[in-house]
Amino acid sequence: MDKKKLDYFKNKLMFERKSLMELIEQMRKNDTIDSKMEIASELSYYDNHPSDLASEFNDIQRGMAFRKNEEALLNKIGNAIDKVEHGGYGICEVCGKPISEERLEFVPYAENCVECQNKLNDSMPREKK
Ligand SMILES: [Zn+2]
Repeated sequence: MDKKKLDYFKNKLMFERKSLMELIEQMRKNDTIDSKMEIASELSYYDNHPSDLASEFNDIQRGMAFRKNEEALLNKIGNAIDKVEHGGYGICEVCGKPISEERLEFVPYAENCVECQNKLNDSMPREKK
C-alpha cells in the first residue's frame, strides 16, 4: 500500500478513535451505568417490584456490553494505527494476504480478510435463542 493510501486510512482511524474516545468519556462522565448498578443491587434486598428489577438488570447488562464493545473497538483502532506507523497495515492476521481496500474503506481497523473473517464467524458458537 502506498504512502498516500496509508495516510488516508490513518486519518480515518484517527477520526474514528477520537469520536469513540469522546463517546466512552461521556459514558464515564454520566456514569449512569455504574450508578444504576448500585441502585439495582440495593433494590434486590427488597422484593417490591420484581418485574421492574428485571428490566433494570437488562438495561445494565446492555450498557455494560455496549461499553465493553466500545473499549474493544478502541483497542483494535489503536492496533491498526500502530500498524500504519510501523508496517503491516492492511495485512490479514490469519493468512497474511492483503485485505481488500473496499473492506478497509468500510472497516478501517479490520484485522482479517473477508475469507478468514467468514471462517472465524462460522466457528463461533451460535447464540441461543
Ligand atoms: Zn485472511
